[in-house]
Amino acid sequence: MSLWTGHIFCFNCGKEFIVNRLTPVEINAALTMLQCPHCLKTPVGQRPHRVNFISSATRRFRKTRRAEVWHFCEYCSSWPDHEFIEIDFQPRGEFCNECKVLAVG
Ligand SMILES: [Zn+2]
Ligand SMILES: [Zn+2]
Repeated sequence: MSLWTGHIFCFNCGKEFIVNRLTPVEINAALTMLQCPHCLKTPVGQRPHRVNFISSATRRFRKTRRAEVWHFCEYCSSWPDHEFIEIDFQPRGEFCNECKVLAVG
């Protein structure tokens, strides 16, 4: 099982923090259980933290030439398979919502 870095937005203060070297299951658990390092709040009830994106050492980011949104899960229904730009470092910009769901599912 590969390990991942999760980039997470706090449910309360909205600031981003990073969890390192977790499995997808552990990242999911962190969304509901982890204390925010900024505001020190822990999620309650139905308000978990939000994943911005997750990455690994072998993660690839792709987008089509005209699109603004980056994809990072090859199982995404919109994963670009032609005319795309691919990079292996974290881009600036927006990330695909479907990829976010798939990556932590
Ligand atoms: Zn916070
Ligand atoms: Zn996608």
